[in-house]
Amino acid sequence: MGYKLPELNYGYDALEPYYDEGTLELHHTKHHAGYVAGLNNAVAKLKEARENGDYSLVKHWEKELAFHGAGHYLHSLFWENLRVGSEDNKSTGAVFEAIEDTFGSFDKFKEEFSKVTLAVEGSGWGVLARGPEGDLKIFSVENHQKVFIPGYKILLVCDVWEHAYYLKYQNRRAEWIENFFKIVNWEEVEKRF
Ligand code: MN
Repeated sequence: MGYKLPELNYGYDALEPYYDEGTLELHHTKHHAGYVAGLNNAVAKLKEARENGDYSLVKHWEKELAFHGAGHYLHSLFWENLRVGSEDNKSTGAVFEAIEDTFGSFDKFKEEFSKVTLAVEGSGWGVLARGPEGDLKIFSVENHQKVFIPGYKILLVCDVWEHAYYLKYQNRRAEWIENFFKIVNWEEVEKRF
C-alpha cells in the first residue's frame, strides 16, 4: 500500500560516463527511497491525527508531507528525463521552438538554466516549467518544495543536492550541470510539454 519507488527504465551504468553507476544506484535506492518512506510516514501520521482528533502536530506533518512528497515527485520526473548520453544532445520539435522563442536560442537557454541551477542555495533543483499561457520559466527550487509558481507544469529538472553528484564531481556542481545536459531525454520533455 502507499507510494512506491518507481523502477528505472535503464540500468544503473547506462548513463556513464556522464552520470556514474555508483551515484545513480545510491541516489535511486537510498535517497529517493528515503523520500518515498518519508511520504508514506507523513500520510500515516496525518491519518492517525484525523482518527484521534489530535491536530497538535498537523503543521509538522503537513510540512513533512510537502517535503517528502515533492522529493518523491521530482525524483520520479528526474529519472524519466534522463537517457543514454551524447555529446551533442539537444532539444527538438515544439520544445526547441518554444525555447528559441523564449530564450533566443538553445544555447542561451542552456546558459540561463545552468546559471540558475548553479546558484541554487544549498540543496535544490533547477526547473524548467510551462506556464498556463504556454510561457516557459526557469526556477531555482530550494530543497524540493520552495520557490515555484503554482500552476506551472514541470518539464525538466536537474537535481543539485550534493547527493546527486558528489561521488564523481565532488564540489564541481558546474561540471555536473554541464554533463547533465548530455543525458537529458528531450523526447520525454517534449511529451510533457
Ligand atoms: Mn536527489
